[in-house]
Amino acid sequence: MKPDSLIALIDDLTSRVEADRVARLTYDLVRIPSPTCHEQACGEFYAEVLWDYGLEVEVRQPFPESPNVIAWLRGDPAGPTLQFAGHLDTIPLPHPEPYFREGIVSGRGAADMKNGLAGMAEMARLLRQADVALPGTLLLTAYGRHELPEAHGENLKVLIEEGIHGDAAIATEGPHEFVAVVGKGQAVWSITIQREGEPIHELQGRGQVAHPIGIGCELLRRLEARQRELNQRDDPYLGPDSYFVGQFHSGDFFNRIPTTCRLVGTRRWSPRSRFPAIRAEIEALCAQLGQDFGVPVQAEVAFSGEAFELDPNHPLVGACQRGYRHVTGRELPLGGLALLGDVSRLMDWGAVPSTYLGIDSTTAHSDQEVCRVEDLVRATKTYLATALYYFAATWNPRRAGW
Ligand SMILES: [Zn+2]
Repeated sequence: MKPDSLIALIDDLTSRVEADRVARLTYDLVRIPSPTCHEQACGEFYAEVLWDYGLEVEVRQPFPESPNVIAWLRGDPAGPTLQFAGHLDTIPLPHPEPYFREGIVSGRGAADMKNGLAGMAEMARLLRQADVALPGTLLLTAYGRHELPEAHGENLKVLIEEGIHGDAAIATEGPHEFVAVVGKGQAVWSITIQREGEPIHELQGRGQVAHPIGIGCELLRRLEARQRELNQRDDPYLGPDSYFVGQFHSGDFFNRIPTTCRLVGTRRWSPRSRFPAIRAEIEALCAQLGQDFGVPVQAEVAFSGEAFELDPNHPLVGACQRGYRHVTGRELPLGGLALLGDVSRLMDWGAVPSTYLGIDSTTAHSDQEVCRVEDLVRATKTYLATALYYFAATWNPRRAGW
């Protein structure tokens, strides 16, 4: 397709985005609760909408109550497949009644990420309605079991194992003011210091038994010392790797020496590290602490997701930047995401070159999630433009029309 006609096509399609329709779809999705592991009704509704929009739709059931919704808009089968991906589940916390008024949709999932699901559905509807002969295939996937700690991306993993993924993918949540070409990996660690024996009166035990609270404090100091080392290696897009302590549990009475102390937190790392090295680092730290104090120190290190790196020269990155510029007139710089998301999973499990194009995740996981309709429209137009730029960039000149 000639550059002029591509731009004309994008201008035409983006002008057809129906703000009220895409906002109402967000609102309808938000009104169907879908806490993690209970996304059935929401998934079935979404599948019906995609079916009504003229897509080829399939609902698979890898887990009870957690469906995988798959929709295709097929073009040239020899061309690439571009995937738009989003999760159906929301965090399970209560939320005020949903509403849709004055340019705002609110409700659990309005920001994370039923807005993204609505945006990618509207994009597909417009491509279908205009009967654009795509030089490849557009794939939409919406799945349950995304949010920690109840789930760990099990549905997405099944999709990837079944071969349902794109040659490139866009997760329709996360940052919207930069295109992420790196992302941090994450693990949740839990360290338990446990001395032998029973809790004992402070005066009976003083100097006789190890005090787990004191050893816990020493652990904190060592984590801080390690953090200072990590701060020396600053990643331009991600900042330094990190330790974070979110929980410190010990003691049950003011004058008893407890038997255990438990600390829980996160470790995040840039693509320079991988999870096995991170786990080894935490285990070595615990072994040293245990040796120094003569007390067993156990580490459990739960893997949340691997760090990722996307080649900035991949056509997906350029397509996102051109699409964003086309719609907003602004540049979309490269960036990095410290937060863990599905791009880590798509890249690690499926080796699918992926990035994020979010809407506005400011209120994700908050007590009042909101989505502004103008942001939703901007994102939907950006999805349309990005998809078309991607197909144009990967266009095979031997195929007619493009
Ligand atoms: Zn999310």
